[in-house]
Amino acid sequence: MSISSAADAASPRQGLAAQAARRRTFAIISHPDAGKTTLTENLLLAGGAIRAAGQVRARGENRRTRSDWMKIERERGISVSASVMTFDHDGKMFNLLDTPGHEDFSEDTYRTLTAADAAVMVLDAAKGIEPQTLKLFEVCRLRDIPIVTFINKMDREAQDPIALLDEIASKLALDPAPLYWPAGSGNRFKGMLDLQRDMFIPFAKKTADSDGEHPEPVAFHGGNSIASYLEEGEHQELEEGAMLVQEASKPFDRQAFLEGHMTPIFFGSALRHFGVDQLLEGIGAYAPPPKTVKAAKSGEPMGVEPGDKEVTGFVFKVQANMDPNHRDRIAFLKLTSGKFSRGMKLKVQNTGRQLSVNAPIMFFASDRELAEEAFAGDVIGIPNHGVLRVGDSLSETGTLRFAGLPNFAPEILQRVRVKDPLKAKHLKKALEGLAEEGVTQLFRPNIGADFIVGAVGQLQFEVMADRLANEYQLEVIFEPSPYAEARWLGGDKADVEDFAGKHRSAMATDIDEQPVFLAKSSWEIGYVGERYPKVRFERTKERT
Ligand code: GDP
Repeated sequence: MSISSAADAASPRQGLAAQAARRRTFAIISHPDAGKTTLTENLLLAGGAIRAAGQVRARGENRRTRSDWMKIERERGISVSASVMTFDHDGKMFNLLDTPGHEDFSEDTYRTLTAADAAVMVLDAAKGIEPQTLKLFEVCRLRDIPIVTFINKMDREAQDPIALLDEIASKLALDPAPLYWPAGSGNRFKGMLDLQRDMFIPFAKKTADSDGEHPEPVAFHGGNSIASYLEEGEHQELEEGAMLVQEASKPFDRQAFLEGHMTPIFFGSALRHFGVDQLLEGIGAYAPPPKTVKAAKSGEPMGVEPGDKEVTGFVFKVQANMDPNHRDRIAFLKLTSGKFSRGMKLKVQNTGRQLSVNAPIMFFASDRELAEEAFAGDVIGIPNHGVLRVGDSLSETGTLRFAGLPNFAPEILQRVRVKDPLKAKHLKKALEGLAEEGVTQLFRPNIGADFIVGAVGQLQFEVMADRLANEYQLEVIFEPSPYAEARWLGGDKADVEDFAGKHRSAMATDIDEQPVFLAKSSWEIGYVGERYPKVRFERTKERT
């Protein structure tokens, strides 16, 4: 009997809870070049979603040739768009959320992390914790996302693994709990010891007469075969190292991991597909299924349980023109409860609009497929024409609202002009489209006809210019704006209106018609903040 029919045989609520319990929705966080793409590909391989390594790139290339603006990805060697890949393996349904690595796209990454129930932190064994790793780790901690650590590139000269654990403990304030322990690194990398099972997993070098297929694990103690992989001195060194680290570190405790105090440590080489099966097994065994999510129903605070009958979810990403032939816009919905079936109607909480979800998509690594059903933890893509926005809460009744996804205050604000003035109207639509996707933020000053575009990094403007040219045939010029910072206003309506009235020339509205104060410097924010103590000047906006 399959897991699904076993679940269906029980009571419906139990069935829903059981389906949710087998979901593992996770993202990979890392500093550029640590090996995220390579690991993604090899996890898909380990999960049986693809047959040969090289397909993720190949698929990327295909997409790039079909979509011109992705040239920028190729030229820069970065990945601009995040997506999700789903695979069913060993009784678990894995949803791997892909996050762009370049720091200019951190806002997109932050949003994607709101949909992750766990994260794999990839470290380059020679470099340890790098700045971007730390930044993303902090977001995970803020959102209570448990972290699994994968120490990659063991086939290269690595730092002393004990020093890497110390760095995790001191920089991240996390207890590292190694589940494996490596035998050497680089040229002397022989494999790793499974500390829980006392088995040695040999690493095969790729040589002229070996295809590099890794041999099966062997008993570390009490067998003869270990001698063919480790010399006596190496055996002893590994034994002592393993003993030392086990004495020095706390044993793995799943509860401590789920609460964010501990991280299980895996070692390997993504490129050589070593340690990746063990990592996937660890994610399946220890990473959490979707949890209760805070929300409000008809204004009353409540928690949405994955086993609840009502189908609910939130949009964490919108991506346009994935298929340029269709000019489609796909909203990625993370389901938080219920059993979703194709064709069902869901309502958007803030607009009250209802939509029939007739063509939901699930992203299996090799292809897109129509999703017939999906459960809490899953991510489905909903094609739509601008109805769905990042941060939207969807449910059957339409009365449920999740604590919103934040919009981050942009760090660079520029004025945008179109070269051909006859196309000004066209520009407005295009800018709104990109802002709905969350690529950039759009502000319309109360005075004047200009648009101000905000982004967290310079590269976002380049991507935007490229997309405007290729997708909307608009040649634009970005110019410096007098503004340095944008703040959303909070507080009593009367106080906000009073402030806005007195600062009309510095006020703008965002894409949701919410008032935004554009400041010329951060000093100015401090200054007005002191004079208007009842008004809150917020760096993030929770979508309502
Ligand atoms: P990303 O920027 O984090 O996505 O990193 P990539 O997956 O693109 O990897 C960056 C570089 O490191 C590429 O040249 C990879 O081939 C290489 N790489 C990734 N994993 C390993 C590994 O385990 N061993 C070695 N030797 N190289 C690796």
